[in-house]
Amino acid sequence: MKEQRHIAILGSTGSIGTQALQVVEAHKTEFCVEVLTAHSNWQLLVQQALKFEPNCVVIADKSYYQPLSEALRNTDIKVFAGEESVVDVVSMESIDMVLVAIVGFAALAPVMAAIESGKPIALSNKETLVVGGQIITSTAMERRVPILPIDSEHSAIFQCLIGESKPQNLYLTASGGPFFGYDKSQLESVTVKQALNHPKWSMGRKVTIDSATLMNKGLEMIEAHWLFGIEPQNIKIAVHRQSIVHSLVEFEDGSFKAQMGLPDMRLPIQYALSFPQRLKSDFEHLDLFSLGSLTFEKPNKEVFRCLDLAYQAIERGGNIPAIMNAANEVAVAAFLDEKIAFNAIATLIEEAMAKHQYIEKPTYDDLLLTDSEVRASMKNIIK
Ligand code: NDP
Repeated sequence: MKEQRHIAILGSTGSIGTQALQVVEAHKTEFCVEVLTAHSNWQLLVQQALKFEPNCVVIADKSYYQPLSEALRNTDIKVFAGEESVVDVVSMESIDMVLVAIVGFAALAPVMAAIESGKPIALSNKETLVVGGQIITSTAMERRVPILPIDSEHSAIFQCLIGESKPQNLYLTASGGPFFGYDKSQLESVTVKQALNHPKWSMGRKVTIDSATLMNKGLEMIEAHWLFGIEPQNIKIAVHRQSIVHSLVEFEDGSFKAQMGLPDMRLPIQYALSFPQRLKSDFEHLDLFSLGSLTFEKPNKEVFRCLDLAYQAIERGGNIPAIMNAANEVAVAAFLDEKIAFNAIATLIEEAMAKHQYIEKPTYDDLLLTDSEVRASMKNIIK
């Protein structure tokens, strides 16, 4: 790459954020860090700031401003606090690219701000496209802002589509999660510890539970719809227990293309950061001859009901995906707090989708309002 890219990493203390920093560290001549942000983990943010020496850091939860600024007082690093500061920093002139690794709906405002200020985005967060896919993609198109996917499935599809015409079908692969093969009654009594025990990927807690319910695949299907302009009925899910094929594309002539690699998020992170170049990587490579067989199966939608709810949400459109997303975020948090059972997640989402007011063409403000109303009403149900 000709010049060093100056990156803002939003959500640097999480699973994707920390792996993004490993990529930066492995490619110091290509990348440097301009901004780091966290929600509340100020101690890790301090360690990262001292090591990577960004221009500034932001802690979204203002109550941690004091210890954070105290710990960095002998440096030139600027310290800001508050969710509005996460939004403000992305427009800094010195930033070349914004990597969005914040979990959940909270990433929507920073994503919109990055697009408005013309910054290319490396996007791992999927909830923003689920909630505001129409507005995000049309604004990005108007401003000619590229959105480079980090989610491994979308990175795979993105790579398969380079130089190609419109595909006929997309196949998103799914590991099947920790409860593959379970029936409904077995799922009734599963614990948080079991649900967090993902067989292939080590990820943040929210996306790990989404993987166990298969809502993750539902969110990814909607994400793929907006990123690649493919209709939901042409986006299929294939359970692939080995997590080696990260997704596939089928073309009109019957040809399939797949992207393969070890399940290591540093690969798609690096690809998004360096695009259109492909950089050398010293991370472990796949040993093709040790693979054995690769299998692909249909998911069990009767048992894992969240997947169908996501298809229903995108088919109905409007603010329904935003309702589904907010209900899912609250229900997953309640499951993690051991307030509800695993199967209640799908039930609560279904109820929220049935009862909240439908808006056919929501504005950005309608989406914010939908999100806060669903959260408020769910909190009245889950005590
Ligand atoms: P984590 O929970 O590990 O990290 C989330 C990050 O966001 C942390 O830095 C956290 O800060 C910060 N954060 C949380 N809430 C807020 C908020 N309200 N405002 C600002 N910052 C906030 O999540 P992951 O890294 O696992 O996932 C991030 C996104 O990437 C998700 O949308 C997920 O679906 C997607 N993704 C993740 C994959 C993975 O392998 N982990 C794979 C593919 C996609 P703090 O640490 O201080 O709480």
